[in-house]
Amino acid sequence: MRRIFTLIWIAIGWIGVNAQPVSVGLFHNQLVNAAVVYCMEGSYQLLVDGSEVTRMDAGGVLYLTQEKNGVKVLDASTDFGHASLIEFNALTLESVFQIRPMDPELETRPYDDDLVVFTSDSCMTLVNRVDFDKYLAGVVESEVGPKAETEFYKAQSILFRTFAMKNLDRHQDERYSLCDGIHCQSYHGKSRMNPMILESILETTGLVLADFNYKLISAVYHTNSGGQTQRASSVWMNEVDYLQSVVDPYSLHQPHAKWRDTISFEDWKNYLLDNGMKSVTKIPEEIIYVEQMRRRENFILDKDSIRMTKISEDWGFESSFFDMFPDGDSVLVWGKGYGHGVGMSQEGALKMARDFFSYQDILQFYFFDVRLMDFRDLPASSITQVDFKY
Ligand SMILES: [Zn+2]
Repeated sequence: MRRIFTLIWIAIGWIGVNAQPVSVGLFHNQLVNAAVVYCMEGSYQLLVDGSEVTRMDAGGVLYLTQEKNGVKVLDASTDFGHASLIEFNALTLESVFQIRPMDPELETRPYDDDLVVFTSDSCMTLVNRVDFDKYLAGVVESEVGPKAETEFYKAQSILFRTFAMKNLDRHQDERYSLCDGIHCQSYHGKSRMNPMILESILETTGLVLADFNYKLISAVYHTNSGGQTQRASSVWMNEVDYLQSVVDPYSLHQPHAKWRDTISFEDWKNYLLDNGMKSVTKIPEEIIYVEQMRRRENFILDKDSIRMTKISEDWGFESSFFDMFPDGDSVLVWGKGYGHGVGMSQEGALKMARDFFSYQDILQFYFFDVRLMDFRDLPASSITQVDFKY
Protein backbone atom coordinates (compact mmCIF):
# COMPACT_ATOMS: atom_id res chain seq x y z
CA MET A 1 0.00 0.00 0.00
CA ARG A 2 2.81 2.33 1.00
CA ARG A 3 4.61 1.48 -2.24
CA ILE A 4 1.54 2.30 -4.34
CA PHE A 5 1.13 5.58 -2.48
CA THR A 6 4.75 6.47 -3.27
CA LEU A 7 4.32 5.61 -6.93
CA ILE A 8 1.18 7.73 -7.19
CA TRP A 9 2.95 10.57 -5.45
CA ILE A 10 5.84 10.34 -7.90
CA ALA A 11 3.42 10.36 -10.83
CA ILE A 12 1.58 13.42 -9.48
CA GLY A 13 4.92 15.04 -8.66
CA TRP A 14 6.06 14.52 -12.23
CA ILE A 15 2.95 16.07 -13.69
CA GLY A 16 3.04 18.92 -11.16
CA VAL A 17 6.67 19.79 -11.77
CA ASN A 18 6.20 19.73 -15.50
CA ALA A 19 2.81 21.42 -15.56
CA GLN A 20 4.10 24.43 -17.46
CA PRO A 21 4.68 23.57 -21.10
CA VAL A 22 6.54 25.86 -23.50
CA SER A 23 5.40 26.74 -27.03
CA VAL A 24 8.23 26.54 -29.56
CA GLY A 25 7.90 27.69 -33.18
CA LEU A 26 9.35 24.97 -35.43
CA PHE A 27 11.41 25.36 -38.62
CA HIS A 28 11.90 29.03 -37.87
CA ASN A 29 12.78 31.15 -40.94
CA GLN A 30 11.25 28.55 -43.27
CA LEU A 31 7.83 28.77 -44.86
CA VAL A 32 6.55 25.22 -44.62
CA ASN A 33 3.65 24.67 -47.06
CA ALA A 34 3.25 20.93 -46.68
CA ALA A 35 4.27 18.39 -44.04
CA VAL A 36 3.61 14.79 -43.04
CA VAL A 37 3.16 14.10 -39.32
CA TYR A 38 3.69 10.57 -37.97
CA CYS A 39 2.53 9.30 -34.59
CA MET A 40 5.66 7.44 -33.35
CA GLU A 41 4.83 6.52 -29.74
CA GLY A 42 1.81 6.75 -27.46
CA SER A 43 -1.46 8.08 -28.81
CA TYR A 44 -2.87 11.37 -30.02
CA GLN A 45 -6.16 13.19 -30.31
CA LEU A 46 -6.72 15.27 -33.46
CA LEU A 47 -8.73 18.47 -33.09
CA VAL A 48 -9.69 20.38 -36.23
CA ASP A 49 -10.90 23.93 -35.49
CA GLY A 50 -11.61 22.90 -31.90
CA SER A 51 -13.52 19.68 -32.56
CA GLU A 52 -12.11 16.19 -32.06
CA VAL A 53 -12.25 14.32 -35.37
CA THR A 54 -10.15 11.24 -34.63
CA ARG A 55 -7.62 9.54 -32.36
CA MET A 56 -4.39 7.99 -33.51
CA ASP A 57 -1.92 5.42 -32.17
CA ALA A 58 1.69 4.69 -33.17
CA GLY A 59 1.85 4.21 -36.93
CA GLY A 60 -0.85 6.82 -37.65
CA VAL A 61 -0.11 9.49 -40.21
CA LEU A 62 -1.43 12.97 -40.94
CA TYR A 63 -0.98 15.08 -44.10
CA LEU A 64 -1.05 18.87 -43.82
CA THR A 65 -1.01 21.21 -46.84
CA GLN A 66 -1.34 24.98 -46.83
CA GLU A 67 -3.96 26.06 -49.37
CA LYS A 68 -5.76 29.34 -50.04
CA ASN A 69 -8.64 28.62 -47.69
CA GLY A 70 -6.63 27.15 -44.81
CA VAL A 71 -4.68 23.99 -44.07
CA LYS A 72 -5.98 20.86 -45.77
CA VAL A 73 -5.99 17.96 -43.28
CA LEU A 74 -6.02 14.27 -44.24
CA ASP A 75 -5.18 11.07 -42.45
CA ALA A 76 -4.66 7.70 -44.14
CA SER A 77 -8.40 7.24 -44.81
CA THR A 78 -10.30 10.50 -44.20
CA ASP A 79 -10.33 14.02 -45.65
CA PHE A 80 -11.07 16.43 -42.79
CA GLY A 81 -11.33 19.44 -45.12
CA HIS A 82 -9.69 22.80 -44.48
CA ALA A 83 -8.97 24.32 -41.08
CA SER A 84 -7.32 27.36 -39.55
CA LEU A 85 -6.32 25.49 -36.37
CA ILE A 86 -5.14 21.90 -36.00
CA GLU A 87 -4.21 20.49 -32.59
CA PHE A 88 -2.47 17.15 -32.32
CA ASN A 89 -2.66 16.54 -28.57
CA ALA A 90 -0.67 13.85 -26.76
CA LEU A 91 -2.88 11.54 -24.71
CA THR A 92 0.03 9.89 -22.87
CA LEU A 93 3.15 11.25 -21.15
CA GLU A 94 5.45 9.42 -23.55
CA SER A 95 3.73 10.42 -26.81
CA VAL A 96 6.15 11.26 -29.63
CA PHE A 97 5.40 12.49 -33.14
CA GLN A 98 7.66 13.16 -36.09
CA ILE A 99 7.39 15.90 -38.73
CA ARG A 100 8.65 15.58 -42.27
CA PRO A 101 8.35 18.91 -44.10
CA MET A 102 7.67 18.16 -47.81
CA ASP A 103 7.54 21.69 -49.25
CA PRO A 104 10.26 22.70 -48.85
CA GLU A 105 11.93 19.37 -48.10
CA LEU A 106 13.63 19.68 -44.72
CA GLU A 107 15.09 17.34 -42.13
CA THR A 108 12.59 14.99 -40.45
CA ARG A 109 12.54 15.60 -36.70
CA PRO A 110 10.86 13.83 -33.75
CA TYR A 111 9.16 15.80 -30.95
CA ASP A 112 7.64 15.07 -27.56
CA ASP A 113 4.09 16.05 -26.62
CA ASP A 114 1.75 18.26 -28.71
CA LEU A 115 1.77 19.83 -32.16
CA VAL A 116 -0.31 22.94 -32.85
CA VAL A 117 -0.68 24.16 -36.44
CA PHE A 118 -2.39 27.40 -37.40
CA THR A 119 -2.54 29.66 -40.42
CA SER A 120 -1.98 33.37 -40.64
CA ASP A 121 -1.38 35.37 -43.84
CA SER A 122 -1.55 32.16 -45.92
CA CYS A 123 1.37 30.66 -43.99
CA MET A 124 1.33 27.54 -41.87
CA THR A 125 2.89 27.92 -38.42
CA LEU A 126 4.02 24.74 -36.63
CA VAL A 127 4.30 24.92 -32.84
CA ASN A 128 5.53 22.24 -30.45
CA ARG A 129 3.77 22.65 -27.10
CA VAL A 130 6.15 20.64 -24.96
CA ASP A 131 7.04 19.93 -21.35
CA PHE A 132 9.73 22.44 -20.27
CA ASP A 133 12.32 19.83 -19.25
CA LYS A 134 11.88 17.78 -22.42
CA TYR A 135 12.34 20.99 -24.40
CA LEU A 136 15.53 21.75 -22.46
CA ALA A 137 16.84 18.23 -23.17
CA GLY A 138 16.35 18.88 -26.91
CA VAL A 139 18.13 22.24 -26.60
CA VAL A 140 21.07 20.73 -24.69
CA GLU A 141 21.46 18.00 -27.32
CA SER A 142 21.24 20.50 -30.22
CA GLU A 143 23.49 23.12 -28.66
CA VAL A 144 26.20 21.08 -26.90
CA GLY A 145 25.91 17.54 -28.26
CA PRO A 146 25.46 14.15 -26.66
CA LYS A 147 28.99 13.54 -25.29
CA ALA A 148 29.55 15.56 -22.14
CA GLU A 149 29.68 15.18 -18.36
CA THR A 150 26.56 15.08 -16.17
CA GLU A 151 27.52 18.12 -14.05
CA PHE A 152 28.21 20.09 -17.22
CA TYR A 153 24.77 19.17 -18.58
CA LYS A 154 23.21 20.37 -15.33
CA ALA A 155 25.06 23.71 -15.37
CA GLN A 156 24.32 24.29 -19.06
CA SER A 157 20.64 23.34 -18.75
CA ILE A 158 20.18 25.80 -15.86
CA LEU A 159 21.49 28.53 -18.19
CA PHE A 160 19.13 27.40 -20.99
CA ARG A 161 16.18 27.29 -18.54
CA THR A 162 17.04 30.77 -17.22
CA PHE A 163 17.25 32.17 -20.76
CA ALA A 164 13.99 30.51 -21.80
CA MET A 165 12.04 31.71 -18.74
CA LYS A 166 13.37 35.24 -19.18
CA ASN A 167 12.36 35.30 -22.84
CA LEU A 168 8.99 33.55 -22.91
CA ASP A 169 7.44 36.56 -24.68
CA ARG A 170 10.11 36.82 -27.36
CA HIS A 171 7.82 35.59 -30.16
CA GLN A 172 4.53 36.63 -28.61
CA ASP A 173 3.41 38.36 -31.83
CA GLU A 174 3.88 35.07 -33.69
CA ARG A 175 1.81 33.25 -31.02
CA TYR A 176 4.58 31.15 -29.51
CA SER A 177 7.27 31.73 -26.89
CA LEU A 178 10.58 30.79 -28.45
CA CYS A 179 11.76 29.80 -31.92
CA ASP A 180 13.88 26.70 -32.60
CA GLY A 181 16.79 28.57 -34.23
CA ILE A 182 19.93 30.22 -32.85
CA HIS A 183 17.93 33.46 -32.47
CA CYS A 184 16.57 31.86 -29.29
CA GLN A 185 18.17 28.47 -28.54
CA SER A 186 18.68 25.74 -31.14
CA TYR A 187 16.09 23.00 -30.70
CA HIS A 188 16.14 20.21 -33.25
CA GLY A 189 13.48 18.14 -31.53
CA LYS A 190 13.46 15.41 -28.94
CA SER A 191 16.71 14.47 -27.19
CA ARG A 192 17.43 10.89 -28.22
CA MET A 193 21.22 10.41 -28.32
CA ASN A 194 21.98 10.31 -24.59
CA PRO A 195 19.43 9.59 -21.82
CA MET A 196 21.80 11.25 -19.32
CA ILE A 197 20.79 14.63 -20.74
CA LEU A 198 17.14 14.38 -19.67
CA GLU A 199 18.14 12.73 -16.37
CA SER A 200 20.50 15.63 -15.57
CA ILE A 201 17.75 18.10 -16.33
CA LEU A 202 15.17 16.29 -14.20
CA GLU A 203 17.65 16.27 -11.29
CA THR A 204 17.85 20.07 -11.49
CA THR A 205 14.27 20.70 -12.60
CA GLY A 206 12.97 24.21 -12.00
CA LEU A 207 16.39 25.65 -11.08
CA VAL A 208 17.32 29.04 -12.53
CA LEU A 209 19.88 31.72 -11.77
CA ALA A 210 18.62 35.00 -10.31
CA ASP A 211 20.48 38.13 -9.24
CA PHE A 212 20.29 39.63 -5.75
CA ASN A 213 17.06 41.43 -6.68
CA TYR A 214 15.46 38.08 -7.59
CA LYS A 215 15.46 38.88 -11.30
CA LEU A 216 16.46 36.20 -13.79
CA ILE A 217 20.00 36.85 -15.00
CA SER A 218 21.29 37.14 -18.56
CA ALA A 219 22.54 33.57 -18.71
CA VAL A 220 25.33 34.12 -21.23
CA TYR A 221 28.06 31.71 -22.19
CA HIS A 222 30.73 31.30 -24.84
CA THR A 223 32.97 28.54 -26.17
CA ASN A 224 36.30 29.28 -24.45
CA SER A 225 37.49 32.24 -22.36
CA GLY A 226 41.17 31.79 -23.28
CA GLY A 227 42.10 31.82 -19.57
CA GLN A 228 40.17 34.88 -18.40
CA THR A 229 36.50 35.74 -18.86
CA GLN A 230 35.39 39.18 -19.94
CA ARG A 231 33.34 41.78 -18.04
CA ALA A 232 29.97 42.43 -19.68
CA SER A 233 30.74 46.15 -19.88
CA SER A 234 33.80 45.46 -22.07
CA VAL A 235 31.54 43.91 -24.71
CA TRP A 236 28.05 45.38 -24.34
CA MET A 237 28.78 48.75 -22.68
CA ASN A 238 26.46 48.25 -19.68
CA GLU A 239 27.91 47.11 -16.34
CA VAL A 240 26.31 43.91 -14.96
CA ASP A 241 27.21 42.99 -11.37
CA TYR A 242 27.19 39.23 -11.88
CA LEU A 243 29.12 39.28 -15.19
CA GLN A 244 32.63 40.17 -14.04
CA SER A 245 36.02 39.00 -15.27
CA VAL A 246 37.46 35.87 -13.66
CA VAL A 247 40.85 34.20 -14.20
CA ASP A 248 39.84 30.87 -15.69
CA PRO A 249 42.59 28.19 -15.70
CA TYR A 250 40.03 25.53 -16.73
CA SER A 251 39.75 26.95 -20.26
CA LEU A 252 43.50 26.59 -20.90
CA HIS A 253 44.65 23.57 -22.95
CA GLN A 254 41.12 23.02 -24.32
CA PRO A 255 40.26 22.69 -28.04
CA HIS A 256 39.54 26.44 -28.58
CA ALA A 257 42.10 27.84 -26.11
CA LYS A 258 44.41 29.26 -28.80
CA TRP A 259 44.29 30.53 -32.35
CA ARG A 260 46.67 32.19 -34.83
CA ASP A 261 46.20 34.65 -37.68
CA THR A 262 48.39 36.82 -39.89
CA ILE A 263 47.43 40.15 -41.44
CA SER A 264 49.33 42.63 -43.60
CA PHE A 265 51.16 45.39 -41.75
CA GLU A 266 50.07 47.93 -44.37
CA ASP A 267 46.40 46.97 -43.88
CA TRP A 268 46.78 47.15 -40.10
CA LYS A 269 48.36 50.61 -40.28
CA ASN A 270 45.61 51.88 -42.61
CA TYR A 271 43.00 50.41 -40.31
CA LEU A 272 44.43 52.27 -37.32
CA LEU A 273 44.55 55.52 -39.34
CA ASP A 274 40.95 55.02 -40.52
CA ASN A 275 39.94 54.65 -36.88
CA GLY A 276 41.48 57.95 -35.85
CA MET A 277 44.90 56.80 -34.62
CA LYS A 278 46.90 59.66 -36.15
CA SER A 279 50.01 58.90 -34.09
CA VAL A 280 50.62 55.81 -36.26
CA THR A 281 52.47 58.03 -38.75
CA LYS A 282 54.74 59.51 -36.05
CA ILE A 283 55.93 56.57 -33.95
CA PRO A 284 58.31 53.75 -34.93
CA GLU A 285 56.51 50.84 -36.56
CA GLU A 286 58.06 48.22 -34.28
CA ILE A 287 56.23 49.58 -31.26
CA ILE A 288 52.81 49.25 -32.87
CA TYR A 289 51.98 46.01 -31.11
CA VAL A 290 49.17 44.73 -28.92
CA GLU A 291 49.91 42.79 -25.77
CA GLN A 292 47.33 41.31 -23.39
CA MET A 293 48.71 39.26 -20.53
CA ARG A 294 45.31 40.01 -18.98
CA ARG A 295 42.30 41.13 -21.02
CA ARG A 296 42.29 44.82 -21.83
CA GLU A 297 39.26 46.83 -22.82
CA ASN A 298 41.05 49.13 -25.24
CA PHE A 299 44.08 49.20 -27.50
CA ILE A 300 45.80 52.49 -26.66
CA LEU A 301 48.37 54.24 -28.85
CA ASP A 302 49.56 57.65 -27.69
CA LYS A 303 46.29 59.40 -26.76
CA ASP A 304 44.00 57.39 -29.04
CA SER A 305 42.16 54.19 -28.30
CA ILE A 306 40.05 51.51 -30.03
CA ARG A 307 37.97 48.91 -28.18
CA MET A 308 39.44 45.42 -28.39
CA THR A 309 35.99 44.03 -29.24
CA LYS A 310 35.79 46.37 -32.24
CA ILE A 311 39.18 45.24 -33.56
CA SER A 312 38.15 41.62 -33.09
CA GLU A 313 34.84 42.10 -34.93
CA ASP A 314 36.34 44.21 -37.75
CA TRP A 315 39.04 41.61 -38.49
CA GLY A 316 36.84 38.56 -37.89
CA PHE A 317 39.07 37.26 -35.08
CA GLU A 318 37.83 34.41 -32.90
CA SER A 319 38.01 36.51 -29.73
CA SER A 320 39.11 39.93 -28.45
CA PHE A 321 41.85 38.35 -26.31
CA PHE A 322 44.96 38.44 -28.53
CA ASP A 323 48.49 39.76 -28.97
CA MET A 324 49.77 41.30 -32.22
CA PHE A 325 53.42 41.58 -33.24
CA PRO A 326 54.78 43.26 -36.40
CA ASP A 327 56.91 40.81 -38.40
CA GLY A 328 58.28 42.39 -41.60
CA ASP A 329 55.37 43.14 -43.93
CA SER A 330 52.99 41.18 -41.71
CA VAL A 331 51.49 41.28 -38.27
CA LEU A 332 51.30 38.01 -36.36
CA VAL A 333 48.16 37.61 -34.28
CA TRP A 334 48.27 35.13 -31.38
CA GLY A 335 44.85 34.73 -29.86
CA LYS A 336 43.25 33.06 -26.86
CA GLY A 337 39.73 31.70 -26.50
CA TYR A 338 36.67 31.68 -28.75
CA GLY A 339 33.58 33.87 -28.49
CA HIS A 340 32.70 37.03 -26.54
CA GLY A 341 34.20 35.70 -23.31
CA VAL A 342 31.33 36.82 -21.04
CA GLY A 343 29.70 34.45 -18.51
CA MET A 344 30.35 30.71 -18.56
CA SER A 345 33.11 29.22 -20.72
CA GLN A 346 31.67 25.97 -22.04
CA GLU A 347 35.04 24.28 -22.45
CA GLY A 348 36.11 25.53 -19.00
CA ALA A 349 32.87 24.25 -17.46
CA LEU A 350 33.33 20.88 -19.13
CA LYS A 351 36.88 20.65 -17.74
CA MET A 352 35.58 21.52 -14.26
CA ALA A 353 32.95 18.77 -14.55
CA ARG A 354 35.70 16.30 -15.57
CA ASP A 355 37.69 17.45 -12.51
CA PHE A 356 34.68 16.49 -10.32
CA PHE A 357 33.36 19.96 -9.59
CA SER A 358 29.58 20.12 -9.11
CA TYR A 359 27.23 22.19 -11.26
CA GLN A 360 26.85 24.59 -8.30
CA ASP A 361 30.66 25.06 -8.22
CA ILE A 362 30.75 25.65 -11.98
CA LEU A 363 27.97 28.28 -11.95
CA GLN A 364 29.38 30.05 -8.90
CA PHE A 365 32.80 30.18 -10.51
CA TYR A 366 31.58 31.94 -13.66
CA PHE A 367 28.74 34.10 -12.25
CA PHE A 368 29.27 36.46 -9.30
CA ASP A 369 26.81 36.69 -6.42
CA VAL A 370 23.91 34.90 -8.08
CA ARG A 371 21.12 32.93 -6.47
CA LEU A 372 20.50 29.40 -7.71
CA MET A 373 16.83 28.84 -6.96
CA ASP A 374 13.59 27.27 -8.07
CA PHE A 375 11.76 29.61 -10.44
CA ARG A 376 8.53 29.00 -8.48
CA ASP A 377 10.13 30.77 -5.50
CA LEU A 378 10.76 33.94 -7.52
CA PRO A 379 8.38 36.90 -7.17
CA ALA A 380 5.63 36.84 -9.81
CA SER A 381 7.02 40.07 -11.32
CA SER A 382 10.26 38.24 -12.21
CA ILE A 383 8.49 35.65 -14.37
CA THR A 384 7.38 36.48 -17.89
CA GLN A 385 3.69 35.66 -18.12
CA VAL A 386 2.43 34.27 -21.42
CA ASP A 387 -0.74 32.51 -22.32
CA PHE A 388 -1.28 31.46 -25.90
CA LYS A 389 -4.87 30.73 -26.79
CA TYR A 390 -5.12 28.90 -30.07
ZN1 LIG B 1 13.75 33.26 -31.61
